[in-house]
Amino acid sequence: MATTRGPVCRLCRREGMKLFLKGDRCFKEKCAIERRGYAPGQHGRRRTKVTGYGTQLREKQKVKRIYGVLERQFRNYFKKAARRKGITGETLLQFLEQRLDNVVHRIGFAASRPHARQMVANGNITVNGRKVDIPSYLVKKGDEVAVREKSRKNEFIRLSIETAKGRGVPSWLELNAEAFKGRVLNLPNREDILLPISEQLIVELYSK
Ligand code: SF4
Repeated sequence: MATTRGPVCRLCRREGMKLFLKGDRCFKEKCAIERRGYAPGQHGRRRTKVTGYGTQLREKQKVKRIYGVLERQFRNYFKKAARRKGITGETLLQFLEQRLDNVVHRIGFAASRPHARQMVANGNITVNGRKVDIPSYLVKKGDEVAVREKSRKNEFIRLSIETAKGRGVPSWLELNAEAFKGRVLNLPNREDILLPISEQLIVELYSK
């Protein structure tokens, strides 16, 4: 996940939708999309019609921002997805969901993907009992993802887990909140990814 400089809420306003980059705040009235749901900047309120290439480009930017991935890495995911059997757009999303920082967020250890990335990079997470500090690490079916013993007292992590218990985790993941552990039950299908993404537009963009 790339480090985003500047106020991240601007990114949501630019894409015209919630990208969930700020954890709990994203679910409250304070969310900038709730308060100012138009693009940032002087001409933000002006409606501009985006078509063809522009729509495809915006969709790609949106997905990159949701997962916090830079262009080169994103393109590499696409190339890898295109080489696989199956529907390229769906495989691309599956790679993004398999990232360790995404799984840490989706399983409930972190309130947002940027927070999850930080947790992983700071060595707070183990996969199958071994420390993994690479946010782009791709988990596999059956992997156990856990918060390291020394990090279990962290207030933010505890709060996140409490919130996740209330909200629930996606069906392809399992959370054992008491043990600060989770498991990848399956790799996600397209219907498990509830974000409003039109991945076909990205495939069209890269296929030009
Ligand atoms: Fe986006 Fe969250 Fe900011 Fe709302 S609060 S604009 S969803 S980052």
